[in-house]
Amino acid sequence: MRTAVYPGSFDPMTNGHLDVVQRAAKIFDRVVVAVARNDSKQPLFTMQQRQDLVAACVSHLPNVSVDSFTGLLVDYVAGMQSQVIIRGLRAISDFEFEFQMALMNRKLNEHVETIFMTPKDTYTFLSSGIVKEIAKLGGDITSFVPLPVQAALKERLHPSGTTYFV
Ligand code: ADP
Repeated sequence: MRTAVYPGSFDPMTNGHLDVVQRAAKIFDRVVVAVARNDSKQPLFTMQQRQDLVAACVSHLPNVSVDSFTGLLVDYVAGMQSQVIIRGLRAISDFEFEFQMALMNRKLNEHVETIFMTPKDTYTFLSSGIVKEIAKLGGDITSFVPLPVQAALKERLHPSGTTYFV
């Protein structure tokens, strides 16, 4: 049973994240999307909301589950009986940070491997941050995030009911 862990903030999940999850789910027996508590990032959605949104977006994938973690990622991965961390690489700008993280995680636990996956080219410009920015400004995000996330962003940012982007 090969389990891979895909960690991230997922604030919120985008079509780019989902694309990576779908690719990983074809290669591994089990994929756990692990939502990180990252206090330095001041997320728009709570940990529980981010987890619930991921769960709604991956419900069609039987070998994908959702969890959350705090503390060291390598400890969480080992606790899940896994040796694989999945990370997404969109562009060269991701590389330096991801490379540093991968090598540091290897220093912390040499049995854990980081595997990088690239999304479909049309998603390489997508990030949670840019989607939130567009949604705040009332732009159309329908092609960037799954339906449950569209609804949650609308509710969170424009609760008055003004229809900006659906
Ligand atoms: P983190 O705060 O850990 O970077 P994110 O939710 O922003 O969390 O991203 C989680 C992982 O998904 C990272 O490896 C990031 O590079 C990757 N990722 C983010 N957006 C995309 C995308 N559009 N396509 C592919 N991978 C992505």
